[in-house]
Amino acid sequence: MDFALDEDLRKRIEQLSQLGRSQIRPLGLEADRLGRPTPPDHPFFERLIRLGQGRTRWSPDSKGGPERGVAPRMGTSVVGLCMIEEISFWDRGVAASFPGPGLGDPPILSMGTLEQKRRFLGPFVHPDRPRWGSFAMTEPGAGSDVAGIQATARKDGRHWVLNGAKSFAANASRADWIVVFATVDRSLGRDGHRAFVVERGTPGLGNFVVERKMGLKAYESTSFTLEDCSVPQDNLLGGEAHYSGRAGFRGAMKSFNATRPMIAAMAVGIGRAALDEALSFSREQGLLDDPRVRDRLERIRRRLRVARLLCWRAAWLADRERPNVLEASMSKAVAPAVALEAASLGMEILGGVGARGDHLIEKLFRDVKAMVIVEGTGQIQRVIMARRLLGDGPRN
Ligand SMILES: Cc1cc2nc3c(=O)[nH]c(=O)nc-3n(C[C@H](O)[C@H](O)[C@H](O)COP(=O)(O)OP(=O)(O)OC[C@H]3O[C@@H](n4cnc5c(N)ncnc54)[C@H](O)[C@@H]3O)c2cc1C
Repeated sequence: MDFALDEDLRKRIEQLSQLGRSQIRPLGLEADRLGRPTPPDHPFFERLIRLGQGRTRWSPDSKGGPERGVAPRMGTSVVGLCMIEEISFWDRGVAASFPGPGLGDPPILSMGTLEQKRRFLGPFVHPDRPRWGSFAMTEPGAGSDVAGIQATARKDGRHWVLNGAKSFAANASRADWIVVFATVDRSLGRDGHRAFVVERGTPGLGNFVVERKMGLKAYESTSFTLEDCSVPQDNLLGGEAHYSGRAGFRGAMKSFNATRPMIAAMAVGIGRAALDEALSFSREQGLLDDPRVRDRLERIRRRLRVARLLCWRAAWLADRERPNVLEASMSKAVAPAVALEAASLGMEILGGVGARGDHLIEKLFRDVKAMVIVEGTGQIQRVIMARRLLGDGPRN
C-alpha cells in the first residue's frame, strides 16, 4: 500500500480546505444556529457542481463487466476518503448535504443493471444542477435489526406496490430518487428483501418530515411514507432474477461495506477538528506546560491516526473488490468512538468556555455522537467482528 498523496490529490484537498474555511464551516454554524438544514436552492450547491462535486462513482465507460457496467471503484476509494475526511473536518453536516447520489450510489452500483445505472446514475456523471439521491432502510421499528423491516412490496402486473414508513433517510425530500428496501414476505426475513428505486413525484410517496437532531443540522434526515406507491417493475434493482437466495439483503450489506469506511473517515475529520480546538485553547491558556494535558492530547492524535489507517485499509480492499466486511466494521467501530473521545476531551479542556453552548467544540460534541449510531451502531459492529472471530460466517 502506497501512503503517498500525489500532487493532484494534495491540490484537491487544499482546494477543499479553502472552501471549508470560507464556506463549509460558516454554513454548518449557521444551520446549527437556525436549527434547520441548508435549503436545496442555496447557491453553495450550484457552486459545488461547478467545482465538479456531486458525482457518482459510476462511469459509463468503465471496463468492469459489460452487462453490469460495474464502476472500477464500487468501493470507497482511498482518495475519496481523504476528501471526505477533509470536508468533515470543516463540517460533517454540510458534508452530508453535498449534492450527489449519496448512500444511494453503492446499492445501485452493486445491484443495478447497466440500464438502471444509466437511468439513475447517468444524470450524476456530469450533473447539470444540484441533484441528490437517498437511501432508506431504517424504519420507525427497524434500525439495527435490518432483517425486521416491515415495508411491503406486492407485484401488480408490470408494477410493484409499496407500503410502509421510513425514517432518518438523508436528503430524502430533495432527492431525485430514493433506494427503498421493502419485503415481499415478512415471514421470509432477510430472504424477502428487495431494493427499489422510487422516483420523486411517484404517487403515494409523501409525508416528508425533516427529523429533529441533536447535531449535524445542516443536512436533512427525513421520514416519509409509501402509501400504495406504485413503481414500474424496471425499478426493482437488478431485476427479479437477481433475488434468488438473499440477494436483496446481501446487496444492502455490500453497500454497508462501502459506506462504513466513509462514515468512519467523516468521524476522523470531526475528531481532528475537536483536537484542533482543544490544542489551540490549551496553547492560548498556557496549559501545554502540563505534561498530563500534552499526554492526553497526543493520545487522541495517535488514536485518530490509527482510526484513519483502518479506514484506508477497508477502502483499499474495497477498491480492489476484495472482501472487507471485517475491516469496514473495524473502521466504523473505532473511528467514531475515538472522535467522540476527542470531542469529550475538548469539552473537558475548554471547561466553562465549552459548556456555554456557543463554542465550536460544543457543536462538534453534539455532531459526533450521531456518527456512532449511523450505518450500524458501535455495538452492531462489535457483534459482526466477534462473529468473524468465532468463525461464524465467512472470514476475510
Ligand atoms: C444522523 C443519522 C443519520 C441516519 N441516516 C440514515 C439514512 O440515510 N438511511 C437510513 O436508512 N438510516 C439512517 N439512519 C438510521 C440509522 O441507521 C439507525 O438509527 C441505526 O441503524 C440504529 O437503529 P435504531 O436507531 O433504531 O436503534 P436500535 O436498533 O433500536 O438500537 C438501540 C440500541 O440497542 C443496541 N442494539 C440493538 N441490537 C443489538 C444487538 N443485537 N446487540 C447489541 N446491541 C444491540 C444498539 O446498538 C443501540 O445502542 C441514520 C441515523 C442517524 C442518527
